Amino acid sequence: MEKRYDCVIVGGSITGLTAARELSKKASVLLVESNPKIGTPFRCSGFINAPAFEEFALAKAQIQNSISQLEVVHGSSSLTFASKKPSGFVTERPALERSLLGEVEPYIDIITGDKVIDIKSGTVSMHASGNVSAGCLIGADGTNSLVRRSIGIADPEKVTAVQFELPGRFERDRAAIYVGEEFMPFHLWVIPVNESLARIGIGTAGDVRAGMQRLLELVKKYRIADYSKYKEARFMVNTLPSSPVSSTGKGSTMLAGMSGSIIKPLSLGGIYFGMLSASMAARSLIDGTLAPGYERKLETAGILARVYDEFALLKRWSSLTDAKLCNAFSRAEAESGREIPMPSGGAQQTSGITGIIKFLIVNSAVGG
Ligand SMILES: Cc1cc2nc3c(=O)[nH]c(=O)nc-3n(C[C@H](O)[C@H](O)[C@H](O)COP(=O)(O)OP(=O)(O)OC[C@H]3O[C@@H](n4cnc5c(N)ncnc54)[C@H](O)[C@@H]3O)c2cc1C
Repeated sequence: MEKRYDCVIVGGSITGLTAARELSKKASVLLVESNPKIGTPFRCSGFINAPAFEEFALAKAQIQNSISQLEVVHGSSSLTFASKKPSGFVTERPALERSLLGEVEPYIDIITGDKVIDIKSGTVSMHASGNVSAGCLIGADGTNSLVRRSIGIADPEKVTAVQFELPGRFERDRAAIYVGEEFMPFHLWVIPVNESLARIGIGTAGDVRAGMQRLLELVKKYRIADYSKYKEARFMVNTLPSSPVSSTGKGSTMLAGMSGSIIKPLSLGGIYFGMLSASMAARSLIDGTLAPGYERKLETAGILARVYDEFALLKRWSSLTDAKLCNAFSRAEAESGREIPMPSGGAQQTSGITGIIKFLIVNSAVGG
């Protein structure tokens, strides 16, 4: 007979591990991760805003760097958004995930290096490990989610994010984003790990190779880092959703993090919303409300409205011309000077990069 679990979590990245953490002493759980080792491959900048870090009581030992300034560069203009205290922290994702793994390992079953290949009527089939029966399923299997397909929800539009970790000279507490037509449909980000290393990436609608080439050309053109070291540099890539999906679950199946398009679309940040949605999905299993209760929790917390609103804003952002961005920069400079307080407002509010992009969209529209 198939072994039965209260919950099978598909995907052992930050979202899946957070669901496991929430459920570990309360339900029988199996977590399945197709990569042989949790935390690998490394495919993130690891930037988490400060209130989110505190909300999930993440270990301070995971902090590689603290960010309190964000420079926005457009052509030869720049604006700096600054905060007195660190607005966010840079973490090494593999280490963060291994530390979450350490918390849950004693309490749940974990299969790594095997893939869920089919889900039908509560039976989860894995490539090598056979079948198990699941009372509930949490899809934490990312943008190309099999769990989402198993409940008949269509795929979102997708974007590829590519990133190199390159050497150079950086101000340690200052992250940067480069904006303008040549960086669309998103922006280029520079997240320093320390004074001599930064994670630099872009979102791209093209394939990985084209994205990688475009990223290196931009790094070279703007002298952002020592691009010539790219062959020895860590390269990171993943697929992210660039539109919402029609629902975040059905019956006893819930879609958390990128499988449910629950990210911050304007910044391409997904760690916090992945963790938040995973913890809501886990609580909906515990309180027995399952997918309908999960969707209600996301709605009540304002997460769904924010995700929808930001995906719509992303379309506006992607079509913003350089002329409109010049407007936004001139207005901001005239009103606040070159140093502007960092938008902040708690973990769930629009802070950091998201807040700044919203600020630029609003300012670009004023005066035509
Ligand atoms: C270059 C880059 C930089 C980023 N930087 C940041 C940042 O600084 N801050 C931030 O907040 N966000 C960032 N993000 C986004 C962030 O990494 C994700 O949103 C976050 O990882 C949450 O994703 P997830 O756990 O929902 O999905 P994923 O991280 O994609 O994890 C899904 C997991 O499911 C596994 N899986 C998939 N299918 C199966 C299957 N059938 N069976 C078993 N396992 C399966 C995969 O192997 C994977 O481990 C970045 C993304 C990229 C690509």
